Amino acid sequence: MIVARRRAVRREGGDRIRLTALCDVMIPRMKTLSCALIVVVLGSFVEAQQPVAPPARATVVRAGRLIDPAAGTIASNQSILIENGRISAIGSTVTAPSNAEVIDLSRLTVLPGLVDAHNHLALTYKTDPENNYYYLTYVMDSTALRAIQAVSNGMQMLSSGFTVVRDLGNNGNYADTALRVGIEQGWVPGPTIVNSGIIIGGMGGQFFPTPEMAKDHNIVYPEYLDADTHDEIVKAVRQNILFGAKVIKVCVDCKPYPYTVEDLKTFVAEAANAGMKVAGHVQTKVGALRAIEAGFWSLEHAGPLDDEVHKKMAEKGVWRVGTETPFTPYRGTQQAFDRTVAGMKNAWANHVKMAFSTDADYYIPGMTRGEVVINFLLSWKASGIPAKEVLKIMTTNGYEVCDLASRRGPITVGLPADMIAVAGNPLEDLDALRTVSFVMKDGTVFKKDGVMTPEAFLHAGPVNGWRIR
Ligand SMILES: [Zn+2]
Repeated sequence: MIVARRRAVRREGGDRIRLTALCDVMIPRMKTLSCALIVVVLGSFVEAQQPVAPPARATVVRAGRLIDPAAGTIASNQSILIENGRISAIGSTVTAPSNAEVIDLSRLTVLPGLVDAHNHLALTYKTDPENNYYYLTYVMDSTALRAIQAVSNGMQMLSSGFTVVRDLGNNGNYADTALRVGIEQGWVPGPTIVNSGIIIGGMGGQFFPTPEMAKDHNIVYPEYLDADTHDEIVKAVRQNILFGAKVIKVCVDCKPYPYTVEDLKTFVAEAANAGMKVAGHVQTKVGALRAIEAGFWSLEHAGPLDDEVHKKMAEKGVWRVGTETPFTPYRGTQQAFDRTVAGMKNAWANHVKMAFSTDADYYIPGMTRGEVVINFLLSWKASGIPAKEVLKIMTTNGYEVCDLASRRGPITVGLPADMIAVAGNPLEDLDALRTVSFVMKDGTVFKKDGVMTPEAFLHAGPVNGWRIR
């Protein structure tokens, strides 16, 4: 839009010059006043062709109940005034412009959007054709195709109330960046994406390729970015940042040659150099302890996190992004689930900072990505953590682990207007979150009365500027 405007101004200047020249050459005896009048009149016509800024949008959301999950409180009959996509007033009465649109949610409970702190929106492995083996997914599905699928997965997440997703790799050649930029440009609706780019790991990443495939065909890339030396680590972090990562994801111990504490400190320092945090995929206790010692921001997956690790995480304020898979007819085992729940109880008892996260990167017939994700409530309910605290974990903690809390998430004056609405009260009954009937993102309604309304998000142009990286 800025570019278009600049061109228009240039055009207008040219027209003024041409008109003046016309007066000078063709009608030299005409009085100066008349000539100036022609310039002004025609100039005004040219000006009328300029694109104009859309009128300020004002919306009032009338909330029957409004939840503040950080405080664990609920207030009745609150109004939220939204102007130009941001919240400008909240209260039992607000002064709104006379032409403001009113959205009546007086029968519903309004709350901030939910956060999945670990997902892979550009990865969907499935039974057919790859037998749920994602090593084949990335061979068979192009990055371009996966980016389009990511848009669909993002909308499915938004429809289930997830307004923020931390997307941690396995997204081909930066499909996650494409998704984030597409949403930020305003071309498609979707959650706010905090993406990692390519997962960085010791040679091979999480794959076990044959020598000929790894050495002759570099088949590990782009699912994983090999970095085995100090210089390679620095370069890999910089590559991800250059190509749009907002958090750095490291495979700490995916191989029998885990990173050393010194290696891991290099990741932390290089990420910090660009103002970013480091998330560590851990699958051994040694790896978890090294990542904690090195100053990692979060540990992904809970497998190796025992009482000792939890105590160290609590002491250093490291986030637990546990990806706690529930036992369902389509996934998991009772044994694994019991372990998962025991780990959650232990983390909670040790006051570890916890986030809601899923690692949901698979297709379950008949379920959207959002439905697969919200079903992780089964794990949180089984943990015995009070509903009020789980809701805080799914919202407030989510904004914090995504490093967004001061810029987005809470329903607070000055922040972007992201909010959802449900029937019932999720402070008491988490299952109320399973049926999200209203979703607003950046002040624009994405879902109302249980029906998605994506039209308002779709634009052909660069709504927020072409240069978003
Ligand atoms: Zn994952």
